[in-house]
Amino acid sequence: MSIERVAIIGLGLLGGSVGLAVAEHLPGVATTGYDADPDVRRRAAERGLVGTVCDTPEDAVAEADLVVLCVPVGAMGAAARSFAAALPEPAIVSDVGSSKQSVGQALAEALPGRCVIPAHPVAGTERSGPDAGFASLFHRRWCILTPPADADPAAVAQLSTFWEALGAKVETMDAAHHDLVLAVTSHIPHLIAYTIVGTASDLEDVTRSEVIKYSAGGFRDFTRIAASDPTMWRDVFLTNRDAVLEMLGRFTEDLTALQRAIRRDDGEALFDLFTRTRDIRRSIVEQGQDDARPDFGRADH
Ligand code: NAP
Repeated sequence: MSIERVAIIGLGLLGGSVGLAVAEHLPGVATTGYDADPDVRRRAAERGLVGTVCDTPEDAVAEADLVVLCVPVGAMGAAARSFAAALPEPAIVSDVGSSKQSVGQALAEALPGRCVIPAHPVAGTERSGPDAGFASLFHRRWCILTPPADADPAAVAQLSTFWEALGAKVETMDAAHHDLVLAVTSHIPHLIAYTIVGTASDLEDVTRSEVIKYSAGGFRDFTRIAASDPTMWRDVFLTNRDAVLEMLGRFTEDLTALQRAIRRDDGEALFDLFTRTRDIRRSIVEQGQDDARPDFGRADH
């Protein structure tokens, strides 16, 4: 079986981007889509995010070779149950959720005995909804597949080929390891950004207008992350709880060490850490995972 018909469930940032990327890179592949929100379905049809926007999840998957669930991680199980009865026998079911152990479990429970291969394209923006998607979102970004131990290797290979065709680089790993890695590279940074922006807005002796006026000092780079979708991120923290709490424990210890270094005037400790972290930034730019231009490539204002 080759992938000729793709159904996308959830037509927001990720779902819309998958649909547009398929149209651009795999023009012979037909796409159908469904979103629980009628306004999103209407907008998806206007933007042409998929070839056919369907009114029910069953209609969307009825002829699919591949179904990609692009709903918040807490909604994956319900979304899978909504089309289970209409899912063709050989179809591969995958997703784009940001946490993988809980999603793998929810999909396996909703679709017992079916070919489920969870995936996570590590690509996104702080925007959400049907107007946010774009075809190049996955270019040169990693897509991590977390197939269960008994997954059909041919189906895993097909899913890898699909993501590579959309411009992604594919890696396969165990779901638990994925959740630990993403806790430190994505989930904790979001938590820190939410905290800093929340703390600044609660201050009494620094006014909100001062926070906004002087935000170029660093704060505004946190506000971009802290503007991310509340539903999506609530679900990420609730579903990747153990890994996030473990990494948060490590982070808290390191933060306490920094606090001690500042209190003890230990400039050497601060300088050593800041030198190491600068090297990490360099590696990220060298590996094409960010823009080297000053100010992250933003236009100067
Ligand atoms: P989004 O823009 O909010 O889109 C999600 C869409 O799914 C919404 O229109 C939502 O409708 C719809 N939906 C919710 N439950 C549904 C159901 N049962 N059936 C059909 N549609 C349903 O969110 P997103 O940013 O694309 O995120 C989607 C997934 O991608 C999440 O699992 C997230 O973890 C993952 N992801 C996100 C990023 C990122 O940067 N945003 C990056 C990588 C992976 P309502 O709004 O009416 O609920």
